[in-house]
Amino acid sequence: MQENKKYTALIVDDSAMNREILKEILEDELDIVEIDNGSDACEYMINHSSELNIVILDLVMPGMNGFEVLKFMKYKHLQDTLPVIMISADSDGTNIEKAFDLGVIDFLSRPFSERIVTRRVMSTIRLFKRQKELVDELDRQYKADDIRIDDLTGLDYKQTFLNKVYTHLRGNPNDNLLMIAVDIDHFKLFNNYYGWEEGDKYLKLIARYMKEFTQRYGGLAGYLGGDDFALLAPKKRPELLAFANMVWNSDELSGFEVGFAPKVGIYEIKDTTEAVGSIYDHAKIALESIKDDYTKRISWYDHSMFQNVRDEFELLVDIKRGAAANEFIFFVQPKVNMFTGKIVGGEALVRWEHKDKGLVSPGVFIPILEKNGFISQIDKMVWEAAVQWLKKRQDEGYRAIPLSINVSRADIFTMDVSGFLKGLLEKYDVPVELLEVEITESSFVEEEDKIHHELRKLRDAGFTLLMDDFGSGYSSLNTLKELDIDILKIDMKFLRMDVTNIDKGVSILESVVNMARSLHLPTIVEGVETESQVEYLTKMGCTYAQGFHFYRPMPVIEYERLLSEEENVDYNGIFVSNLEPVHVREFLDENLFSDVLVNNILGPVAFFEVEADGTVRLIRMNEQYSKLIGRNFEPDGQESVEIMIDRVRPREHDTFHDLFQAAYHAPLTGVKDVLDFTRDDGQEIALQIRLFFLRKRPDVRVYYASVVKI
Ligand code: C2E
Ligand code: CA
Ligand code: CA
Repeated sequence: MQENKKYTALIVDDSAMNREILKEILEDELDIVEIDNGSDACEYMINHSSELNIVILDLVMPGMNGFEVLKFMKYKHLQDTLPVIMISADSDGTNIEKAFDLGVIDFLSRPFSERIVTRRVMSTIRLFKRQKELVDELDRQYKADDIRIDDLTGLDYKQTFLNKVYTHLRGNPNDNLLMIAVDIDHFKLFNNYYGWEEGDKYLKLIARYMKEFTQRYGGLAGYLGGDDFALLAPKKRPELLAFANMVWNSDELSGFEVGFAPKVGIYEIKDTTEAVGSIYDHAKIALESIKDDYTKRISWYDHSMFQNVRDEFELLVDIKRGAAANEFIFFVQPKVNMFTGKIVGGEALVRWEHKDKGLVSPGVFIPILEKNGFISQIDKMVWEAAVQWLKKRQDEGYRAIPLSINVSRADIFTMDVSGFLKGLLEKYDVPVELLEVEITESSFVEEEDKIHHELRKLRDAGFTLLMDDFGSGYSSLNTLKELDIDILKIDMKFLRMDVTNIDKGVSILESVVNMARSLHLPTIVEGVETESQVEYLTKMGCTYAQGFHFYRPMPVIEYERLLSEEENVDYNGIFVSNLEPVHVREFLDENLFSDVLVNNILGPVAFFEVEADGTVRLIRMNEQYSKLIGRNFEPDGQESVEIMIDRVRPREHDTFHDLFQAAYHAPLTGVKDVLDFTRDDGQEIALQIRLFFLRKRPDVRVYYASVVKI
């Protein structure tokens, strides 16, 4: 070992005097870097981890404290290569324990004893190095049998790839190179949507492009597991364009929804001695920064991105302070009956009354809390405050009106939501009917089982469940059917009803509303802002709404003032519009519904099978459809299978067949035409038919049609 080579220690301490003392003790043995605050230290470690041998960290600092720094290091896997010693005058056992849990190797307490400090620091460095060598050695032995090439993609797997990158960078220090991280947006969802087989195909396809690229232009391609790929590529414009073209313009990929496009994050390698892991991390940070933005597919790393990671941490620290200072409260936004304008309930929406910044909206902090799993700490406080309020109203003798709370998917993964809520109701003796639970639609998709299980528990406990933000995600009718949701909240903003495509927005809304009605599901439309929206919503048959047009979220006190006028309130709550039930449920049993159809259920619907010889059979229909053709509806009647052509006039036979062909070739949009049909009683009616191809079965193609009499 090169014992004569100096090691480098990073001292992070806000006190200049402490740093000076330590420096004096250690500088004979070590090179010293001093930093006086947590966040700069994090930034320094990210960029220079390979030059450091140990970190000596103060526990108590303003801003980001020692614990936060440790969490950051853990999050960035810095402790894999960098040992940390903690300084503290604090002899509090729990703090020490906590620090050890976060990966601290040793402790130095003030005042420092010169001899002990030097020995401890040096022996920590040596022990850690020795241990790392052992681990690396084991790793090497292990990797001899480990996968080098991934079976599925045929690319170099993880360590093999990173090793090759390392060798390449050392061998070609003067090349202009980029590290490109590639992954597929919402890949888990993709698997849900198209199935694992298609998912594997997709991965293979990307792997193939990457291989082709390296064969043509040089560089290295690797697979890092899941949907993560990486490419070391020359920094040349034509090559990059070729890559972009492959990934985004290929015919093979264009069949999938845009939401599943591959995305890339690019990091320009300026220092070829930078640790390979850190090089990849930078590309990945760039990629993460555009994760949920449909409009961006490519992102170049820049320094501000690190700033973002750092800002997030500082915000977290501030949130914790705010929580301790009871700065989190809730506002209430009333839900109204649009026909009467009366209030039928309220929704509790968290607000942060920040000591310096004033009122902070949840959009700023909820996403970060969700990502970190801290959301449940805030939610528990908000939920308890909500139940306390219900209790207070009850005690003051007011007539009850329900209040809903918001539950995040992260809550479900970090706590026992139904247990906690039940506990609150018991503690304050509030009936379960008054506390409603909103959970957002997009949270139903990933890791469904866990969420479904929790929803079932909430239901069993008697809570009313609202599906929030319907239209924002990918929920299908199937999800609705499985989940025994009580109320559907449809958010106008997800229908993208700007002026240019208002018709499209309205027709999607209309079909969702119709579908909900056919499932006997009451709906609330959210985000209603104008009188004209109220007009077409009520025409459509919507009754309940929430939005700025009626009320903005308001302080509890103001809400109480509103409620105190009895004529403002409708104590009957929310009901499904009183229209005839349609037996759509039968259709849901077979996985026939695709999400495309959610947007197209308008009144009468039927399913057809088309045989190879062109014979069209009606295989199922709903009640409205059967009425249209003049037949008594039998929900279980499978004898209704009939040859369709008999209903169509001979001169329209070709048109009729062509329609199915055309629908087959337009699976996403379907086709539309008007045809004359003969009813059971012989009467002729003109039907506008919208036809969608659903899927192939052995020997037949299955279609779905929604029809309107004109
Ligand atoms: P959300 O549950 O969909 O709540 C509705 C949001 O839309 C609220 O935003 C509300 O102020 C806003 N809004 C209501 N009417 C209109 C309108 O007519 N036009 C427009 N443009 N917006 C309208 P807010 O209060 O900022 O909350 C944002 C999101 O934060 C909520 O969306 C919810 O997902 C989350 N959130 C709020 N409070 C909590 C909470 O206590 N816990 C959890 N986990 N999440 C919460
Ligand atoms: Ca909500
Ligand atoms: Ca919502």
